[in-house]
This record gives sequence, C-alpha cells and structure tokens, in this order.
Amino acid sequence: MYNPKSPKAEDFINHEEILASLDYAEKNKNNRELIEKIIEKAREYKGITHREAAVLLACEDEALNEKMYSLAREIKQKIYGNRIVMFAPLYLSNYCINSCVYCPYHVKNKHICRKKLTQEQVREETIALQDMGHKRLALEAGEDPVNNPLEYILECIDTIYSIKHKNGAIRRVNVNIAATTVENYKRLKDAGIGTYILFQETYHKEHYEELHPAGPKHDYAYHTEAMDRAMQGGIDDVGLGVLFGLDTYPYELVGILMHAEHLEAAFGVGPHTISVPRICPADDIDVDDFSNAVPDEMWHKIIAIIRIAVPYTGMIVSTRESAKNRKRALELGISQISGASSTSVGGYASPESEDENTAQFDRSDTRTLDEVVNWLMELGYIPSFCTACYREGRTGDRFMSLAKTGAIQNCCQPNALMTLKEYLVDYASQGTQKIGEKVIAEELKKIPNENVRAIAEKYISEIELGKRDFRF
Ligand code: SF4
Ligand code: SF4
Repeated sequence: MYNPKSPKAEDFINHEEILASLDYAEKNKNNRELIEKIIEKAREYKGITHREAAVLLACEDEALNEKMYSLAREIKQKIYGNRIVMFAPLYLSNYCINSCVYCPYHVKNKHICRKKLTQEQVREETIALQDMGHKRLALEAGEDPVNNPLEYILECIDTIYSIKHKNGAIRRVNVNIAATTVENYKRLKDAGIGTYILFQETYHKEHYEELHPAGPKHDYAYHTEAMDRAMQGGIDDVGLGVLFGLDTYPYELVGILMHAEHLEAAFGVGPHTISVPRICPADDIDVDDFSNAVPDEMWHKIIAIIRIAVPYTGMIVSTRESAKNRKRALELGISQISGASSTSVGGYASPESEDENTAQFDRSDTRTLDEVVNWLMELGYIPSFCTACYREGRTGDRFMSLAKTGAIQNCCQPNALMTLKEYLVDYASQGTQKIGEKVIAEELKKIPNENVRAIAEKYISEIELGKRDFRF
C-alpha cells in the first residue's frame, strides 16, 4: 500500500502508485485546463506532487512546455539568484564488491586497474584540489568492507580537513559511499561530513535487482531505505539521484519525487540535493546496451520539472555533461556544478596513462576550473565557493526553514562574493580576475540590506589584504 510515511521502501516507493501516476499522466497529457492549474499551483513556490509532475512531463503542448520552462527559470532566479556553487569529486578507491552492470568498477571487471589512495596520496590529491581553488568535495569510493571499510573513509575525511596548503582549505566534505548502518551514519556525522549522497540508480525494483545481480547493493530495500537510516544517524542533509537511462525516465522522475515526499513526510525535511546524471560511456560499459537513454531535450525538461516540484532542493550536474548541456541546465534549475573533475582514483595529483585508467566515467566537460569560473561569469552567474551553512549549523530543517522564508538570501549573496574574491586573489588567471572584480563590484550593490552590504565590502577589502574565511 502506498504510504509516504512508512519506513518500508515498498510502501513509500510504491510500484502500483508509480504506474497509476504514469497512467493518470498519459490520460491527462492533453488536459490543458489541468496542466494550467498545476503550473499555477507551482507559482506559489511550494512544489507539486509526483503525480502532478508526471502530468507535466507527459505534456506535449509546446506552449505549455514553454510556460513550464519559464516558471522553472523564474523559481531558479528567485530562490538561487545567479549564484552557482562549485564542487569537485574526489575518488578514494575503486575497489568494489558490487556488480552494477553500468559501472566500470563492478567486481567482474578484471582488466581495470584497482587503486586505493594511501593517506599520503589523499594529502596530494587534496593539495592539488586546493591549489585549483576548490573548497567543497564529494568523496567517492566503491563498496568493499576489506579495502574501503568505514574506518578508511573516516581517516580520509580527517586527513582532508587537516590540510591547509597556502591559503587553501577544504571546508565541506560531502560523502557518496554505499548504504550503511545507522551506527556508521552517526560516525560519518561525527566526522563532520556535509551531505550524505547516495544515488538510487533506479527506483524500479525488479530492474534494480537485475542491474545489481550480486553483492550487498542487490538488496533494493536496504539501499532505498538508506536515507532513513542516515537521518536516524543524525545526518539531516541527504542527496538523492538516479542514473537516468537505466529505466524509463517517467518512472524515475515519479520515483525520485516520491522519495523526496517520503523524507518530508517521515522526517519533516526533504532532500538537500538531487543529482541528475545520465548514463555515459566508460571502460567496459557501452551506452548502446541501455535502451532508455534520455535525449537532451527531455533531460532539460526533467530538470525544469524537478526545479518546479522541489524548489528548495539544490540540483547538481557533473562533468558527464558537455558545456552546452550544462549551460541550458543552469538556466532551468541547476544550482551546483563540478569543475575540472577527475573521475579517476588519484587523478588530480598524477594524471593517468591509458593502461592504468581508473575513470568511473568519461567526462564531456574537460575544462580547467579557471575556464569554468570564467565561463560562468561570462554567462552572468556568480561562481560561489561558499560552504557556510553546514559550518554555521544551518542544516536539515533549520536550513530549509531559512530557505523557505527567503532569509537565506542574506547569507548566500555576500558569501558567494567573498568566496569568489578569495578565488580571484589566490587562484584565478588575469582574465578571470578582471571579469571577477567587475562581477563583485556590480553584485555587491544588489545586496538589499545596508548593514550586510557594508560588512561584505569590509570583508572583501580584508581578503585583498590576506585575510580568509569570512562568512555570514
Ligand atoms: Fe561499486 Fe558504486 Fe560502481 Fe556499483 S556504482 S560497481 S557500488 S562503485
Ligand atoms: Fe549554500 Fe548556505 Fe552558502 Fe547559501 S549560505 S550558498 S545555502 S552554503
């Protein structure tokens, strides 16, 4: 039985409810009146249900689709302004005992080179990331209790936080590791992680089991209920995601929104972020084996609908996507992007040769961080290296209530400008510095609160003189 409050995966991601929603959407895809009504409801910035989102997804009317896109842009602008938060993934280990058929780290891939960073190598990677200007990381590791036990992940987190190279510092470590126990989530929380990220891959149970034929990840319920355990362990910022292309995209969209509704119903706080990766080529992985690939136009529509459905949930896109696709995705709802990512174990400090390739997927966007930052500013965005909320204890429902009243804006804008200033002074090329200074001068004027503006101006002058790490 469908029940968003239930702790059981089969109740809150209920297969029959998904099918009924898709059926309802199919029957109403030309129901102009209903679609207009859903769009009107979404204008209140309070979101829409998974069923309503399914109807919007099914709509084929160009004019109505345009209305959706324009509303998504409006919500994005109103809630996130023109700030884009930057991050980078850090691959710790590609040892894995799972058998995910879409990932080159699957246990049966015997020709991929297996690597696990030593603490010295974690240090080198962290310094390489700091020297680029990154402040926020997402740790990635396969599931392997012998090679990558939780103690190893915790040790890496400690190492990363302890390194201060020149003016560099990693100020927020998000973690993307396998589903685990409440006890282990508590330990991750105590280690000071930001968001716990776990992609569902697919919400379709039967297909999920086929795509994960062996290993602990085969257990659909254990995987799907992981965010509940993370919340019980005290981690209140969790990041959802599906790998679009594994199952049909309408099924996945409804599934991920039901998951968000479940977290809201059961814990009073929805997901902190949603990621929207699509399957892409990698060692031992041929995308032609996956018939559900999502075309660009539909992928952009999915992003717009998620933006409308969960306005206060950050949305993330990685370097899997090309600069062109990322540009449109940013307009429609994406609030966080990675830059200059290496998807290999140890790939920042020592780029790999072909025969020791450990990349999890091929990147489409291979620009440097300076190029991405410059590009964002040319497009009218403010690249932000802000990590303030988690460090100020603004997480979970505390963060969400500030976000929903709009009060968070008083922090985001000055924090974005101050962290951009740090980036410009410490890491940017001359060209990027030039455009960045102009952006800061113009954007400072837009801070509505006089006091906040004056303090931000003062802090920015102090950054010029060598001080660091101011935050609101
Ligand atoms: Fe292992 Fe994760 Fe890759 Fe699956 S997706 S094989 S769990 S690293
Ligand atoms: Fe994100 Fe908080 Fe910084 Fe705003 S102030 S950008 S919400 S960390």
